[in-house]
Amino acid sequence: MSQPLTLQDISRRIRDVPDFPKPGILFKDITPLLLDPKAFRRAVELMTAPFRGDRISRVVSIESRGFLLGAPIALALEAGLVPMRKPGKLPAERGRVEYALEYGTDALEMHSDAVGAADRVLIVDDVLATGGTAAAAAQLVRKHGAGVVGCTFLIELDFLHGRGRLTGERIEALLHYT
Ligand code: AMP
Repeated sequence: MSQPLTLQDISRRIRDVPDFPKPGILFKDITPLLLDPKAFRRAVELMTAPFRGDRISRVVSIESRGFLLGAPIALALEAGLVPMRKPGKLPAERGRVEYALEYGTDALEMHSDAVGAADRVLIVDDVLATGGTAAAAAQLVRKHGAGVVGCTFLIELDFLHGRGRLTGERIEALLHYT
């Protein structure tokens, strides 16, 4: 039997793209990982593992790369999958949260019937950077009466101190860049 893939095997499949989408940003491109089913499967297993015993009923995944990870994690946890989207994409009745960016504001939306008071939610995204997106996602989930059990990320950019924005949340991340 072959050895299980390691975090290093996974991190080798993350491509650094300098100055994308704008100068000064080092973009963490997960598409090489998606091309390798063994490494992708292992990343999903490792992101799921810490929450296996937590009776997660909904996986809330954040547009757009969060969807790619959230879908297999939801299946692995036998939880419902909830897309949290940029404004104007969801067709039915929806809740909305606005959050501050470096310049201006952005917003996320979620269908109002997607989570409720009985739900135990895991929030999934590819990258934790400043934490603003995940903090807004947690706020929107709680506004619908559900509990946020935690957040799981493939990548954490530790030098941006996103955890500081997420005080009180349980945060798991596979790969750390300091
Ligand atoms: P933040 O709200 O600052 O934590 O940013 C998180 C969101 O922005 C996530 O949805 C990420 O997909 C994206 N993001 C931020 N920084 C990067 C980066 N360096 N590489 C790839 N995606 C990023």
